[in-house]
Amino acid sequence: MSLSGRTSTDPDRQGASGPDAGASSPGWVPDRPMDAILDVLRRGERFLVCSHSRPDGDAVGSMLAMGMLLEQMGKRADLVTADRIPGIYRTLPGADQIRTAMRVHGPYDAVILLECDGLERTRLLGLEAFYVVNIDHHLTGRNFGCLNWIDREAASVGELVHRLIKAAGAKVTAEIAACIYVTILTDTGGFMYGGTRASTFALAEELTRGGADPVRIAQEVYFSTATAKLLLLGAALGNLKREGRLAWLWIAHSDMVRTCATEEDCEGIVNYAVSIAGVEAAVFLRELPEGTIRLSIRSKGRVDVAEIAAKLGGGGHENAAGVTLEGPLPRAIEQILVELRAAVALLQVPSE
Ligand code: AMP
Ligand code: MN
Ligand code: MN
Repeated sequence: MSLSGRTSTDPDRQGASGPDAGASSPGWVPDRPMDAILDVLRRGERFLVCSHSRPDGDAVGSMLAMGMLLEQMGKRADLVTADRIPGIYRTLPGADQIRTAMRVHGPYDAVILLECDGLERTRLLGLEAFYVVNIDHHLTGRNFGCLNWIDREAASVGELVHRLIKAAGAKVTAEIAACIYVTILTDTGGFMYGGTRASTFALAEELTRGGADPVRIAQEVYFSTATAKLLLLGAALGNLKREGRLAWLWIAHSDMVRTCATEEDCEGIVNYAVSIAGVEAAVFLRELPEGTIRLSIRSKGRVDVAEIAAKLGGGGHENAAGVTLEGPLPRAIEQILVELRAAVALLQVPSE
């Protein structure tokens, strides 16, 4: 079959909901998204599975689980990201099969794009050529794919992949259970962020019964820190600033060089700032080698940081969002503080 080419009118590309569903043009939101996606998977032979750059636990776990679903269905799947898989996820089953690339090409029937609110979030070139199935749970998610399934209630995209696996009648193996468990563990910040519901724990229980080992996974995700990361954290904490219900901290590119830190060592630094008593929102700013500034923004729940990030050209979730701004650092700090000060000023009751 041929699903490739976003503007093709090939009748093969019509999905499960019938020929009037608009499957051949970008933006199709089927009534029954899982049926439509499974239809695409059943009809195709070769698939590309991708997620966002700087992959996190949800990106890695959901890609691996999707790859295992396709394998069970007898399909071929290539798993590709623009950046290396962080060390803490490299022990996940199948993680060594994820390739890094800058450009993708190949005879793929479709691309399964997980956790991206646009093709650009992948930082992969060449995706425009393919039939894109977009599966996401971001608040800032958009129907940019040829077939779109966005469920903003889901704790992780892995949760959606889990539903898809069950709908396909495939087996949730112990390997799949471990991968999905990582997606919910990390995207809820260890079952602490706003999206954590009773159903999140029910899924965690189901996955644990299915063979995911919560203790081992927690050891790998939270107790396997590289020394360089702590040296970098020290530099960032040295720059910590507090102003009422806001806190921010940053690192210059020279700090990265001095501590021999890598990009993945920056993961989680922002959490120290938002963990401060009385702080409602926090930002971590990192100067990139070329001088632009990458921001990680977090909220305890009363400030919608996705809205603020989107206003500046980024996106994310209510409690966790990101954006890249022009440098230099002081300018980016001022730019985000203007927005955050306005947002916390709207909060009724001071939290301390
Ligand atoms: P980070 O601070 O990089 O961990 O990102 C927090 C959340 O915001 C993650 O769910 C990201 O997927 C999302 N996010 C970060 N940067 C962007 C961006 N530029 N556009 C859209 N979403 C983003
Ligand atoms: Mn993610
Ligand atoms: Mn996610």
